[in-house]
Amino acid sequence: MRLVLLGPPGSGKGTQAARLKVELGVPHISTGDMLRAAVAAGTPTGLKAKAVMDAGKLVSDDILLAMLEERLSQDDVKGGFILDGYPRNLAQADALDHLLAKIGQPLDAVVKLDVPNEVIIARCEIRFAAEHRKDDDPVVVRDRLKVYAEQTAPVADFFARRGKLQVVDGVGELDEVTARVKRALAAESAAANG
Ligand code: AMP
Repeated sequence: MRLVLLGPPGSGKGTQAARLKVELGVPHISTGDMLRAAVAAGTPTGLKAKAVMDAGKLVSDDILLAMLEERLSQDDVKGGFILDGYPRNLAQADALDHLLAKIGQPLDAVVKLDVPNEVIIARCEIRFAAEHRKDDDPVVVRDRLKVYAEQTAPVADFFARRGKLQVVDGVGELDEVTARVKRALAAESAAANG
């Protein structure tokens, strides 16, 4: 299963991906986690990305594509993957398309977690209090939601136009949301198998 999880910051993509990877037996690739690891390790990529991430803006497409290309060339993704946090704009959606075509691994499904902004803001406040991620500061969260609306929302339309998008209600108990995602994936594979 090659799956992209879409949704605004704080929509639960990371949490759901961590659960789905166990069920689907494929790795969870989070570009946000990869960047945070690069920042923590003080790599050249991390040094470039830190201020941009703290401000809730998007790190450059070149950095992301190089990182993703390297990750998708590793052996553990041969049987599929769950991609979380990428693509985040139309240029990245296009780049992903080309990259997956090049390695002969087209996407099976794209699932968007739908969560209203007021729920996102409340969730990020809780995460900010617990984890102190600078980009969960309520002021930055509003900027991230703006970036999402302007740059990432069109990515959902991009996949919808290809008949690839499943929208799932992301509000509710974790188990319930996981069950909804699994139902959406089952519907997608039933449709693909005619
Ligand atoms: P996330 O954990 O997915 O919310 O990502 C945290 C931050 O990492 C984002 O706010 C961006 O600054 C950066 N980031 C993660 N993925 C991408 C991406 N695909 N393109 C650009 N920046 C990204």
